[in-house]
Amino acid sequence: MKLHTKILLGLLAGAVVGVATNLTVGVDHPAVEFINTYLAVPVGQVFLRMLFMVVMPLVFASITLGVAGLGDIRKVGRIGGKTLGYFFVTTALAATLGLTVVNVVKPWERVSPETRTQLMEQFSTDAEGRVQAAATTARFGPDTFVNIVPRNPVDAAARTDMLGIIFFGLMFGAALTLIPAARAKPMIDVLEALSDVVIQIINFAMRLAPYGVACLIFTVSSRFGFDLLYAVAAFVLTVLAALVLHLTITISAIVRFVLGLSPVVFFSRVKAVMITAFSTSSSNATLPTSLNAAETQLGVSRHIAGFVLPLGATMCMNGTSIFEGITVIFLAQIFGVDLSIFQMGIVMVMAVVTAIGAAGVPGGSIPLLVGILVMFGVPGEAIAIVLGVDRILDMSRTTVNVTTDLTATIWIAKTEGHWTPRSLPQA
Ligand code: ASP
Repeated sequence: MKLHTKILLGLLAGAVVGVATNLTVGVDHPAVEFINTYLAVPVGQVFLRMLFMVVMPLVFASITLGVAGLGDIRKVGRIGGKTLGYFFVTTALAATLGLTVVNVVKPWERVSPETRTQLMEQFSTDAEGRVQAAATTARFGPDTFVNIVPRNPVDAAARTDMLGIIFFGLMFGAALTLIPAARAKPMIDVLEALSDVVIQIINFAMRLAPYGVACLIFTVSSRFGFDLLYAVAAFVLTVLAALVLHLTITISAIVRFVLGLSPVVFFSRVKAVMITAFSTSSSNATLPTSLNAAETQLGVSRHIAGFVLPLGATMCMNGTSIFEGITVIFLAQIFGVDLSIFQMGIVMVMAVVTAIGAAGVPGGSIPLLVGILVMFGVPGEAIAIVLGVDRILDMSRTTVNVTTDLTATIWIAKTEGHWTPRSLPQA
């Protein structure tokens, strides 16, 4: 059986048994208490800690390698600059759309105020984290920027200060491109190995995931019944709606007005790429298909597609930033962490930056998402709610990710004078 099927089954099993106990014997029954204390909570915690344990090394390695991979920062040049600019602007548009949609739909309102109060009390042990998060992200002023620069990167990692580690990673990566290649190479090799090792540890954790998710969901649903599950369904629909809106409004508008192409023609040309992304949930795995489509279906020359698409597969993730923004706001609301407008802005920035840092593999953004949740003082247990339903969201956001990469390729080719709508090969 595939792992994601097992995780989904874990979610269903935990939810069904949890809701059933909630409705029949109630929360306070000693047997339910016993199962929660001695089985469900510990197993769930071990699973979560396995993920938490690798967040900081993963974020550091992936951000550093991402920047180092660009090559000499001074020589990235016009095409590189334009490509990064396009990635950045579309990702920011996507994150903004996601935040708007989630604030309009408010999927957390499916949870009654009593449950929310209870949830807050239940997880009050995280109050400390919440206070710290409030201290670092609540006020806007010169300190907002100063605090991004960590005094001590080890201390920043120990406090799960994501922005601090990201900043350190950016500097580290940039510096690596400026020292002689022979000196940089061993460091890059070490970081690549570090990132492989961390991904392997995540694989270990994911083997535990079906049981971890079952236990975490059992704990939550035995305590809160149906209430929370409605909210999860509403959350899934919200993410899917935002992804569809991004494709049909933002991307279609770019295709029509910036590229001068009919969206219908564009989408029919890239169908195969979208289907591959949807079925693999991996931008990296879709890369060969998108390189091929860029050339044979869209008429973009190989040297441009060969530069833009591999970069896009790891750095340009519009769908991922939509997903991350919505998830953080949703879980924060559910767990009673009230975010100010300014904090929403930070969520948006984090969604953009971590979407750039996430690896183009199935679930590549999950560890980074965990980091953002912690940063805002949302209890780690919250991630279980998302993991159980993540497969369908991952398939859908990856489709949006690779589709945007293809528009980036066309735009670069067009602005470099190598492409016009007439370059499109005959269908
Ligand atoms: N699976 C996504 C991709 O490969 C990354 C993620 O959002 O988890 O593009």
